[in-house]
This record gives sequence, C-alpha cells and structure tokens, in this order.
Amino acid sequence: MRAVTITPGKKDSLRLVDDAPEPPEAEGPVLVEALAVGVCGTDREIIAMDYGEAPPGEDTLILGHESLGRVLADPTATFQPGDLVAGIVRHPDPVPCANCAVGEWDMCRNGRYTECGIKARHGFARERWRVEPHFAVGLDPGLAGVGVLLEPTSVVAKAWEHIAAIGSRAHWEPQTVLVTGAGPVGLLAALLGTQRGLTAHVLDRATDGPKPELTARLGATYHTGQVSDLDFEPDIVVECTGAPPVVVQVIDKVGPDGVVCLTGVSSAGGQVGIGASTLSRAVVLENNAVFGSVNANRRHWNAAAEALGRADREWLAGLITRRVPVDAYAEAYAPRDGDIKVVLGF
Ligand code: BGC
Repeated sequence: MRAVTITPGKKDSLRLVDDAPEPPEAEGPVLVEALAVGVCGTDREIIAMDYGEAPPGEDTLILGHESLGRVLADPTATFQPGDLVAGIVRHPDPVPCANCAVGEWDMCRNGRYTECGIKARHGFARERWRVEPHFAVGLDPGLAGVGVLLEPTSVVAKAWEHIAAIGSRAHWEPQTVLVTGAGPVGLLAALLGTQRGLTAHVLDRATDGPKPELTARLGATYHTGQVSDLDFEPDIVVECTGAPPVVVQVIDKVGPDGVVCLTGVSSAGGQVGIGASTLSRAVVLENNAVFGSVNANRRHWNAAAEALGRADREWLAGLITRRVPVDAYAEAYAPRDGDIKVVLGF
C-alpha cells in the first residue's frame, strides 16, 4: 500500500512508497482506511531533520499525525464499519511516569512517550492504519469534510483547559483573548475563545488572503502590525507564532492577572532586545502567568470533537485552503502563500 515516509537523519528523504506493509495487528484491532492527513510545521521540521524518529529497529518513519479515517473493521465492536475516526497522536511512556499512568500522557515527565508520525511510532499517511480503540476518537458523520482538523483542535482544547485552570487560582473574569498567529492553531484557538464567550482578537502578518475574513466571521477583530501597538490589554494571550519578538511582546502586553499560553515552537537562537529584568518585573508586578502547552490527552480530544461539532462547518472548511492528492504528496509539504491548512487526500 502507499505511504508517505522519511528516513530520519537522511537529507531529502521524503518519499511516497507503494510497497509499505499492511499495518500489523500489534498496532491495534481497529482497522481504518485513511481519508485525509493534515500537514503542519512539525512535518516540515521532521522532513528538514530537526527531529523525527523511526520505530525501534526500523529505518523509516511513516509521516502524518493529523488523521481522519473510516473504520473498515473493529472486532471489539467499539466502532462500526463506516464510522469516522481520528487517531490520538501521543502514546504513554512504558514506565509509565505518574502522568502517563493516569492517561495524562500530554504531561509525560520522562520524555519516553511515542508519537504517531513524529517519534518512534508510524503515522497516518498511509492507505490503512490500525489503532487501539481507546486511541481512536469517533467523529460525527457530518464532520467528514473537516474532521482532519480534530488534532490541531485537540492541542487548542488542552491549551484552553489549562488557561482556565491557571485563571482559577484567584477571582477571574476574563473578557478578551488575543491570539497571535492566524494559522490553523491560532484560528482554532480564536474559535474556542469565542465559544467560551470571550471577545477575540487575532494578530497576524497577513494583510490579504483568507485570514482577515475567517477572523471576522468568528465575530473577532483582525490586527496586523506590532503587538506593542495594540490599544488594549488582553486578559488572555494564546501565542501561536513562536516568533521570539512576538513572545516577548505578548508577555509585556497582557493585562493584570493575565495568562499567556505559548503554543508556538521557536527556532533555536532567537534573540530579542528586551532585558530579562524588564520582563520579570512585568510578570511579577501584575501577577501574570506564562506557560507552555503541547499535545493533548483523551479528555482534550473529546473536548475538541465537541467543539468542532458546535462550530460552523463552512467556517471550518475555510481553514482547509489546499487539498492535495497523495500522489502529488511533495506539493503538500511545500508551503505556499495563503495556505492555512493543507490536507493530503487518500
Ligand atoms: C503535534 C503534537 C506533538 C508536537 C511535538 C505537534 O505538531 O500537534 O501532538 O506533541 O508536535 O511533537
């Protein structure tokens, strides 16, 4: 069967192979036919050899951690043939650490977790894959066109859960959220913010393309330019660019008792011209909390499925700006102006 693979540690190794083995039963009893796989910056970083690890004893890694598939067979009867499912990305470490032991593998303490299509576990960019029922999330049949957005939504659902947990340290009535970066994660973060009744602001570099309109259709306000020039202090910031100057500016900008959630991964070596003392003063004297958030556990995947179910399907479809058939796989991994989410179709 066809699969998109890379060889970790080898330059220019992205391939579409047509002789990938059928998924082994050891991967789980639920057999799934792939419908779609989303592409994100992490895939490009793996292709660029920044990270990515093949399963133990193998040379290649099947890519793809944002999945949507249709169940072909499930002997456990958890799912029916034809059900739509997505596969959970991270699997707990084998020890397991205290967090993995209670299903909070997104908070793994020893780094020995595995991730489909990323770290020591094959991904979903192949015609068929298998999964354990408790690592598959069922989706409403009406989400067939957009269900591939479940994975980035799970990441955002976790971020919002933690924002609320941190905010509840004291009396807190947040009104406004600023999201920096209008990629899929940013726009989905804004969606979940509006679903929570907040006034949302989205800041991005793009002055044209679909981002301003998608933001407006959420009832949110679109901004370009510098965070420091905004004329309001947000109660919450969800930072999705990973760009060091933006990270620093949002920490400075957030209002008193504010919560800043960092979701973007900065490239190595970013330097910014602001002193650590200025920044720590701003954080301490306003009781601000700055935290990082990555990945998602089962609870967040369920919350994400619920959030997608409540969202306007046409708006969600607008996030998918390119669909590339798997035979033209290389085009999907080469970013283009105006891309939000690019999806490989099987
Ligand atoms: C994925 C996460 C994963 C992270 C680090 C992100 O692109 O969405 O699930 O934990 O990469 O590997």
